[in-house]
Amino acid sequence: MILRIKCCRDLAFFLPRIHRHRRFDYHLTRRANLKDIIESIGVPHTEVGHIRINHSLPAGFDYIPKTAIQLDVKAVKAPTDYTRPSLLRSETLETLSFVADVNVIKLGRLMILLGFDVCYSKGYSDRSIADLAHREKRIVLTRDTALLKRNRIVFARRLRANHPYDQLKETVEFFNLKPRIRFFSRCTLCNAGLNRVDKDAILDRLEPKTKKYYHTFYQCPECTRVFWCGSHIEHMRSAFERLGVLE
Ligand SMILES: [Zn+2]
Repeated sequence: MILRIKCCRDLAFFLPRIHRHRRFDYHLTRRANLKDIIESIGVPHTEVGHIRINHSLPAGFDYIPKTAIQLDVKAVKAPTDYTRPSLLRSETLETLSFVADVNVIKLGRLMILLGFDVCYSKGYSDRSIADLAHREKRIVLTRDTALLKRNRIVFARRLRANHPYDQLKETVEFFNLKPRIRFFSRCTLCNAGLNRVDKDAILDRLEPKTKKYYHTFYQCPECTRVFWCGSHIEHMRSAFERLGVLE
């Protein structure tokens, strides 16, 4: 049985060159649902926003073709809204939290600095990322396409950009994160929200110059590290402003 498949421009990234920007034949020789078929041509299910059969009927991932059909596969469109259910994803997200794969740890740290709840660890396996995403309803950020073919992962972005700052811009735009940015509100080591702390309470932990020039301090409730808006933080703020993610 032959399926005639066309993927939209945004999904060309995942396809072999010969299948990009055109309809191509797919020889289906087994019983398979649309998720399996689409992933077998290279596109992870997390990147798919709509599927249409014969130019009209919307279909879900579970649909099993029984006759020759035409398939049109469209990408998840930016900015995404995962707070509403869709035919492909009945599950929804009330809050946006993330898990960063080991190949985008720098992106994870930058996002925490912008105030987002992001778990990351060099020790994460593909399986532990999928489990964490499933258990805590986290969006997976990765550059590993194969990881996103796991059933347990529902929400994700396969980053196209190589550089962490470009990846950050891509993520902020894709998930429409600008209104949710709370710069310098989390510990970049633990991902915990920072609390204001009295200068007097941590005075003995400060260097003389810090003591002299800074008056507002924050503390991580997990690791007890003390933070202040020093030159490093100001440098990061400027970098985010130049990137256009901070106003
Ligand atoms: Zn901490």
